[in-house]
Amino acid sequence: MFLLLSMCLLAFLAPRGDAQDRAALWRGNDRSGRCQYTFTVASPAEASCPRAGGPEVEAVKTRLSVLEALVSRLTGGDAGAAAAADPRLQEALNRAVGERNLLRGEKERLERELGSLQRRLEEMLRETERLRSRPCPPQTPALPDSGLMRPAGGLNPMSHLMTRPNRQGDSSSSLRDSVWQQGFQELKAEVTEVPAPEEYTGCGVLASVSEPVTHRKADGISGKYGVWMQDPEAVAPYGSDMVWRVDTVGSDVRQMFGYEDMEQLSKGFPTKVVLLPEPLEGTGAVLYRGSLYYQRRRSRTLIRFDLASETVAARRDLPHAGFHGQFPYSWGGYTDIDLAVDERGLWAVYSTSKAKGAVVLSRLDPHDLRVIKSWETNIRKNSVANAFLVCGRLYTVASYAAANTTVNYMYDPESGRGRALAVPFKNKYRYNSMIDYNPTQKKLFAWDNFHMVSYDLRLGRPPAEA
Ligand code: CA
Repeated sequence: MFLLLSMCLLAFLAPRGDAQDRAALWRGNDRSGRCQYTFTVASPAEASCPRAGGPEVEAVKTRLSVLEALVSRLTGGDAGAAAAADPRLQEALNRAVGERNLLRGEKERLERELGSLQRRLEEMLRETERLRSRPCPPQTPALPDSGLMRPAGGLNPMSHLMTRPNRQGDSSSSLRDSVWQQGFQELKAEVTEVPAPEEYTGCGVLASVSEPVTHRKADGISGKYGVWMQDPEAVAPYGSDMVWRVDTVGSDVRQMFGYEDMEQLSKGFPTKVVLLPEPLEGTGAVLYRGSLYYQRRRSRTLIRFDLASETVAARRDLPHAGFHGQFPYSWGGYTDIDLAVDERGLWAVYSTSKAKGAVVLSRLDPHDLRVIKSWETNIRKNSVANAFLVCGRLYTVASYAAANTTVNYMYDPESGRGRALAVPFKNKYRYNSMIDYNPTQKKLFAWDNFHMVSYDLRLGRPPAEA
């Protein structure tokens, strides 16, 4: 019996040597801790049964790895496989692919553009060669040197008009040339019609402003800004040489100093001190026909102070005028109401709520301060540094602080029209608080950062009215 059992066992074990991949023996502990042997024989029917472990699982794992690698290769690499496993990676992959496609499109567009630019360059080169081979147009004589036409900085104001058109790739250049030539001839004719301003001595338009001449520097802080003047139509007891000065720093400005002449002003020796009955505000006061005209502090009241009797000869509100910082010049300093004198008489430069800050120009009766006529301009009062009148026309100065600025605008109340100017103007001391015209001397008086300065003016013939 034992022999039979042994033979069976041997018979069972005999094929193991050449069929080891189809049979296996495991050893392990059972639940009670005893050693347990498990013996499995593979059969054609059972070989594909799923198992929790063992060489077959290992083989499947190996095959799976091979398959995964294959899938990875088929789906475009490890990133693709990983992306497929993770939606976020998939999204990133999609985005990257989209960007790549965009870049390809951009590259193609740039290549097309490059081709177009190369074609244009070739056309320009051909056009240049063609122009070079043509004879030059007849030379035009040089323009007369007209001071009227010379703007700030010495640049030719017509230069932009005389610049030849230069569009590329245009086959109608000969037509352009003739049109340009015609325009140039017309312009030249227009320019040559303007006479040389030196020949003109009448009451005209501002042609140029000289360098400032310094007459005196104020001693104390109260002279940082102020107003100084000579009466263009002086009356006794003071002559036309008398110079008057008011330092306007402070809240109770009442003192006015009188100097016999410019020399005494330069030396700093006043011969007269006038005490004003009511305080003065701003730097807009003027002297005219023996009276000081000024704005009473914190009011729109204008006062005419008679110098001979040293009494108030007239007082009147300037209707609707802003005051005390409502509509000052760009400099500020309560320059709301600026009085001015020229060949035509007495004027006020100010603004009103109705004008919304635009400069209002009013002609005043010098006797009783009544407004004779008003004009509303398009000039923003707080955009200009100061203003003055010459021969019935209003001029504005662009900056009170720039060393090199301009008289940048002229308004003519007679025609109701204004136009931009570029007459060079120097603020030598960089803080110009007052600019007024003296029609007898044809000078501007200004107070520039403690300094009392004057400018000579040159006037030109006014342009013919259209
Ligand atoms: Ca002024």
